[in-house]
Amino acid sequence: MEHNGKLIIISAPSGAGKTSIVKSILSSDLPLDFSISACSRPKREGEIDGKDYYFLDLNDFKKMIQDELFVEWEEVYENNFYGTLKSEVSRIWKNAKDVVFDIDVKGGINIKKQFPEQSLSIFIMPPSIQELENRLRKRGTETDETIQKRISKANYEISFSSQFDKIIVNDVLEDAIEETYNTIKNFIK
Ligand code: 5GP
Repeated sequence: MEHNGKLIIISAPSGAGKTSIVKSILSSDLPLDFSISACSRPKREGEIDGKDYYFLDLNDFKKMIQDELFVEWEEVYENNFYGTLKSEVSRIWKNAKDVVFDIDVKGGINIKKQFPEQSLSIFIMPPSIQELENRLRKRGTETDETIQKRISKANYEISFSSQFDKIIVNDVLEDAIEETYNTIKNFIK
């Protein structure tokens, strides 16, 4: 892989508002493009193959791991693999853009280790665990059991936050977006 562009890693516990922040950064005036990950989980309603993810079946995913086509991959949930393709990073760099990753905490730390100078890693922090729980409840898509699972996972993920270059607390979304924008702008200039 050629080593020219920059890498912007955005990780967060689920419910911290990461998706809204990533979307807004991508529609800003910064020269960024989104790294579309491959994953082995089923496509959800409304998702588009090749836009949200490259949806693969598990065997194909495992074959691609063996063929060393990934920059990093993780089994984020049992039997649900997610990974960043080397071809995706090359595609974006060829277009003279910097790459934005929306990936889990371990994947984020992994990329930062491989590209220490070229990458900026940002951890989006919920204002509190209580607020995270409120947000997950408001979504209405979660049962008590999955909420508890996500909360304990969030606590685990937050324990890695100090390994990120920058922690941004998402209390007021607009402020968190502005802080993320400024941090990235400063890094890529
Ligand atoms: P979801 O299934 O809700 O779309 O994503 C589940 C989790 O997988 C999220 O935390 C997301 O950031 C993470 N994820 C998505 N793509 C990748 C990837 O390429 N690598 C890693 N390590 N995690 C990913």
